[in-house]
Formats: sequence, C-alpha cells, structure tokens
Amino acid sequence: MNTAYISIGSNIGDRLHHLMEAVRSLHSHEKIEVSNVSSIYETAPVGYTDQADFLNLVVSVETSLDPYELLSACQHIENGLGRVRDIRWGPRTVDLDILLYNNDNIEAENLTVPHPRMGERAFVLVPLLEIASTIGHPVTGTPFTVADDDGVVLWKKADEFKQQL
Ligand code: ATP
Ligand code: MG
Ligand code: MG
Repeated sequence: MNTAYISIGSNIGDRLHHLMEAVRSLHSHEKIEVSNVSSIYETAPVGYTDQADFLNLVVSVETSLDPYELLSACQHIENGLGRVRDIRWGPRTVDLDILLYNNDNIEAENLTVPHPRMGERAFVLVPLLEIASTIGHPVTGTPFTVADDDGVVLWKKADEFKQQL
C-alpha cells in the first residue's frame, strides 16, 4: 500500500459541496482509502488574483494505484465535477493536486512529485501540517514549514467537516 497527500481546492459555486464530492469520490474509488482529512481553510487567490476566494484542504490517502493512475483518478474527479481548463491558475470548481506519494521523487512530463510549488503555498502547507505535522521533503528530508500563514483562515474544522461527509 502507498501513502499519498492530495491538496483539494475550489473557488466556484458551492465550494464546500465541491470539496465534499471530491473527498467522497476519492474514498469511493475501490483502490483509494481516504485515511485523514484536514480542516478547510479559506484563502485569497494566488497567481491570477482577479477571482473569488478559495477553500482548500488536504487529505491523506492509502492507495494501491501507482502515481500516474492516482493522477488519472484525480483528473477524472475534476472532470466529473465540471472543471474546465482555460486560464492558468484561474477559477475552478475543483483542483486535485498530488503533493506527495510515499517518498517518491517523480519528474515526468505530466506529473511532478513532490508538487513543485507546494513549499511556497501556505494554503497547501497549513492543512498538510495539520494532518502530518512532522512531514519533510522526501529528497532533502527538510521538514516543511510555513513562512507566513496570514492569508489562510480556518473556515471549517476537520471534525465538523468529517461529520458532513
Ligand atoms: P498548480 O500545479 O500550480 O497548482 P493547477 O493545479 O491549476 O496549477 P492544473 O491545470 O490542475 O494546474 O494541472 C496542469 C497539469 O499539471 C496537469 O495536466 C497535470 O498533468 C500536471 N501535474 C504535474 N504534476 C502534478 C501533480 N503533482 N498533481 C497534479 N497535477 C500535476
Ligand atoms: Mg493546483
Ligand atoms: Mg491541478
């Protein structure tokens, strides 16, 4: 079995519903078990800033899928929830990014793990560290730390969210 961490974000429509459906869809996959769920955090957009605020969380999963199969499963869920790709880093119903997969270091055309921008994103690191407080970079071993979590606001506690799942 393999352990992976997946960041999930939404900033269109019923954001909470999109996050819930994404977590439920992961868990209902026969080869994926969601083993933990962080709280949900609200964050102003990064990159392309002319869009609505995001809700973000991180889940840990146990899976027998390889990293590429897991990416496909994530993209299938994005598509099922109506994601349309137009503006890079633009608005989306849901985005599922693989942050970590075991201690693997993958640099393929369609998949980079650890996620290349995770170390600079408080909206990823705050929920990740909530459920994996001592986790480090698989290559360097350096623990992930959040430089500035100012813009990341707790929106719904994990316990409350888990009850709604
Ligand atoms: P960012 O990656 O900066 O968060 P994004 O999530 O908006 O941006 P997407 O449009 O969701 O980007 O994905 C663009 C491509 O990124 C996908 O087609 C996918 O193949 C590739 N990709 C590379 N590494 C990963 C990863 N670790 N998790 C998910 N997608 C990845
Ligand atoms: Mg992303
Ligand atoms: Mg993505």
